[in-house]
Amino acid sequence: MPAAFGKGISRLCGVLAAPTARELRRLLALALRETPTAEIRLDWLKSDTERSAFLKWLKAHHPRKAQLIATCRRRVGGGEFAGDAGEELYWLMQAREAGCAWCDLEVETLRELPGKSVRGYGVPEKVLLSMHDFRKTPVFPKKLTVLAAGGANALKVAAMARSLSDSARIMRLTRNSRDVVAIAMGEIGLPARVLALREGSALAYAPVAAATAPGQIPLRDLKALYRAHELTRATRVYGVIGNPVGHSLSPLLHNTGYIAARKDAVYLPFLVENLKDFLKALPDFGVQGFSVTLPHKEKIFAHLDAVEPLAEKIGAVNTVTVRKDGSLYGSNTDYLGVLRAMEKKMKLRGSRVAIYGAGGSARAAAFALAQAGANVFVCARRLAAARKLAKASGGEAIPRSALRTQEFDALLNATPIGMFPREKVSPLAAGELNCSLVMDLIYRPIRTKLLRLAASRKIACVSGVEMFLAQGFAQWEHWMGSKAPESIMRNAVMRALENEENARW
Ligand code: NAP
Repeated sequence: MPAAFGKGISRLCGVLAAPTARELRRLLALALRETPTAEIRLDWLKSDTERSAFLKWLKAHHPRKAQLIATCRRRVGGGEFAGDAGEELYWLMQAREAGCAWCDLEVETLRELPGKSVRGYGVPEKVLLSMHDFRKTPVFPKKLTVLAAGGANALKVAAMARSLSDSARIMRLTRNSRDVVAIAMGEIGLPARVLALREGSALAYAPVAAATAPGQIPLRDLKALYRAHELTRATRVYGVIGNPVGHSLSPLLHNTGYIAARKDAVYLPFLVENLKDFLKALPDFGVQGFSVTLPHKEKIFAHLDAVEPLAEKIGAVNTVTVRKDGSLYGSNTDYLGVLRAMEKKMKLRGSRVAIYGAGGSARAAAFALAQAGANVFVCARRLAAARKLAKASGGEAIPRSALRTQEFDALLNATPIGMFPREKVSPLAAGELNCSLVMDLIYRPIRTKLLRLAASRKIACVSGVEMFLAQGFAQWEHWMGSKAPESIMRNAVMRALENEENARW
């Protein structure tokens, strides 16, 4: 058990960084609603006057039970403080006077001190010695020892992770240690940051407001969505792999479901540039299953041990399950997403459905609809691509002009035309919507220009959100083995998408 900072919630550390004492006070109040542990970045305050004002206030109003870490990191150590080592020590001494029990002192300052020790300087009694590498993950010694570190009580290593293997190496630093904090910086490091406490890191850092280092997760999400302080070795780990992956709503969808259904599981976004790197790091993260998004849906085939026959036919996998023996099983829930979303609105057997587009999602839709007994018509800007998909799925390729002359029961947009940030365009004109139902696979925005055009002609509409939700519910159930708490998961996703749209306008 890590000794230095206590247990559970107190190992989540809110990072407070603001230019004024007033703003820093506000952030401290926000942080303490989530956790008693907070790092105060004195170096981010814009002047000595603000530092004095904040510490004077803190001395008079020291929050009870708070565990405060004062940091006044110099530029040489990657911080904002323009002063020298003597001035840094001065502010840390003031922080002790104001009631901070801990201080963070960067190794660059320690090296400048006579005797290379912090003892005897009147800084806060407990010292966290920090080492940063903002460029790369260095080669670490076999074992990090705090005793060797100039009288420090704990060690912090923060390094830029350039690969998932890097972030796994950083995570491993804290195994079998009680007083080491390890932080994988950068977006690639995000899963390692969430799993840090479970691995044994003495603290996990998260900003209360603005991020102070690349790849940070807001404190509220780290606590409420990922429950970083509650994860144990027994917690099952899932995730989504993609590049980019930061915009993915899957972590919100799956984690909301785990919380509602009380599952001891967590779902993480893995930024995967290189599939081999991810697969190598898989055992370190203990991943039991993962969703696959662009650009890996097809490339993942080469690494799978077995594939569901329909996914094989579609030629894309969006769900991988890691079996007990470590082998990988691929399947596809995108096609279920299309089916479940459309079945709610119409009878598919015997219907005529036109698909616009012949890419990955068009393939999933074509096979799904054909399997459900619909007559599938494929229309694409490249007739050859339309023909190829029509042939594979047992449908028929049609030219664009057919959309004006033929009637369909449903029309499905499987191109990215109309997706944010180019949401003002529609892939099809009003005169091409000769059908009773239009489904757009796009879900940013929720109601696309195409759907608004269809609604204005009194045609029933299905948003791509329905497909996203349905494929996610199917994945969730595949891994959890129980019914997904759909309405709670749906509400969380709809709220996030609506907030995104409101923020844009
Ligand atoms: P994809 O594999 O790249 O296929 C895109 C298709 O659209 C291709 O046939 C492409 O034709 C065509 N296209 C692209 N730009 C076009 C243009 N300007 N005019 C005419 N055709 C154009 O993409 P995908 O994975 O199928 O995704 C398509 C859309 O579905 C995306 O917006 C994606 O966000 C959405 N989607 C939604 C979900 C969901 O859960 N709701 C799931 C998957 C995908 P070429 O081959 O000629 O370029």
